Amino acid sequence: MRRFARARRYNRSLSEILLNALFREFSQESLEADPAVCFVLDEKLQLTYCNPAWNRFALQNGATDLQSERVLGRPVLNCTSGAVLEYYRSLYQNVLAGAAPTAHDFHCSSPQVERLMRMQVYRLRSAPALLVVCSLQVERPHRWPAEDPVEAVYRSELGVVVMCSNCRRTRRAGVRPDTWDWVPGFLVEPPEAVSHGICNVCLEYYYPGRRASGLRRQ
Ligand SMILES: [Zn+2]
Repeated sequence: MRRFARARRYNRSLSEILLNALFREFSQESLEADPAVCFVLDEKLQLTYCNPAWNRFALQNGATDLQSERVLGRPVLNCTSGAVLEYYRSLYQNVLAGAAPTAHDFHCSSPQVERLMRMQVYRLRSAPALLVVCSLQVERPHRWPAEDPVEAVYRSELGVVVMCSNCRRTRRAGVRPDTWDWVPGFLVEPPEAVSHGICNVCLEYYYPGRRASGLRRQ
């Protein structure tokens, strides 16, 4: 028990050190007022700070389990699943290790709108931590035609429904070459036994040249 208490004290003081470093380098007032979703990661990629826009964005998307009080201290990669997880881990670790600030575009669409976001990842100068800023680039009606969530079309012989962990499209079962459809009904009400894979377009974007090396798409 004593060991756990010590660990908790350490975590609290570590997070205070990182927050002090953050607010020395960036104005707290600006971060709190920023409409972009801003968060800070420590060396273990654990969430140390989320600005109010984080909570607003989580609420807008119905993700009440991602409110800051529930995620602070947890690994940010717990919020990510599927094939893009390793992409984000290596992006964060490269910047922590001294790479220049890095930008990355990603989808964050809802059933109602197509949304493209831009993530900027900065390493703090005075502490081993990252400031990540995600701003909205484009929000518009979906361009892909919406398909109905028909289980017989999308559930594979293995009994799973495969959805792309980036663009959130769903793979048609038993069709070659792979066909990925926009099925908003599966976002509103996720089917049972979803497997998170990666579609052809997102595979090329996240892992250019990796198709031949056999990155698992499921
Ligand atoms: Zn995709």
